[in-house]
Amino acid sequence: MTARRPIVAGNWKMHGTFSSAASLTKEVMENLPKTQADGPQTVVCAPFPHLLTVGQLSAGSDLHLGAQDCSDKVQGAYTGDVSATMLMDIGCSHVIVGHSERRSLHGETSALVAAKAAAAQAVGLIPIICVGETEAQYRAGSSRAVVEQHLSESLPSGATALNTVIAYEPVWAIGTGLTPSLEEIAAIHRAIRDTLGALGADMRILYGGSVKPDNAAAILALDDVDGALVGGASLKASEFIAIVQAAHNRV
Ligand code: PEP
Repeated sequence: MTARRPIVAGNWKMHGTFSSAASLTKEVMENLPKTQADGPQTVVCAPFPHLLTVGQLSAGSDLHLGAQDCSDKVQGAYTGDVSATMLMDIGCSHVIVGHSERRSLHGETSALVAAKAAAAQAVGLIPIICVGETEAQYRAGSSRAVVEQHLSESLPSGATALNTVIAYEPVWAIGTGLTPSLEEIAAIHRAIRDTLGALGADMRILYGGSVKPDNAAAILALDDVDGALVGGASLKASEFIAIVQAAHNRV
């Protein structure tokens, strides 16, 4: 039995309607491969207004519910924010924090990401903490340095392999159809594990950035890749299921 149970998480971003979220959930559930006790977990991170519906439709199934962000605060006068407790209360098990779109479009710093991750962990929600370099940083050969800095600043002090998941998402690969080579993905994942020291051996490290049905098997077969964070392809049940199936087929 592997200590690092793989995860395939779909990030629906700001897409869909009440009705399309319900249809997509039903289609994913109908086609979800049966999950063994130590087999890959499947998570969908829906927009806030759709979480309750997705959660109600998937209750008791092998499909887990995730959110795309949470507040670093517990409660109070924070208009527009959603707390980790609220997410737990409606059945979420995971929450993405530090996605590059939040870092770049909302100016989120690694310190804030760490505070959000700590808030999630405090209530038993597993943060999927995103790290990754921009295209300019990739071209400058500084991917590893950037990722190491993201890790050292975005992981809360209480992070363990049980209460935290890391997602390596090169910014230039998100939504572009581009991916690093398999060798590059393997090297960064190895570097992340090494940087994490004692935490590294059991930490789940997902790859995200243009994972599609046609590249999923090769990426997921890499030793230090423990699953995928999937954006665009998670909006089509057939594509998402093909990626989930690739995780199940991994030997
Ligand atoms: C993402 O948004 O986290 C992502 C990986 O998107 P895509 O799969 O579309 O590149």
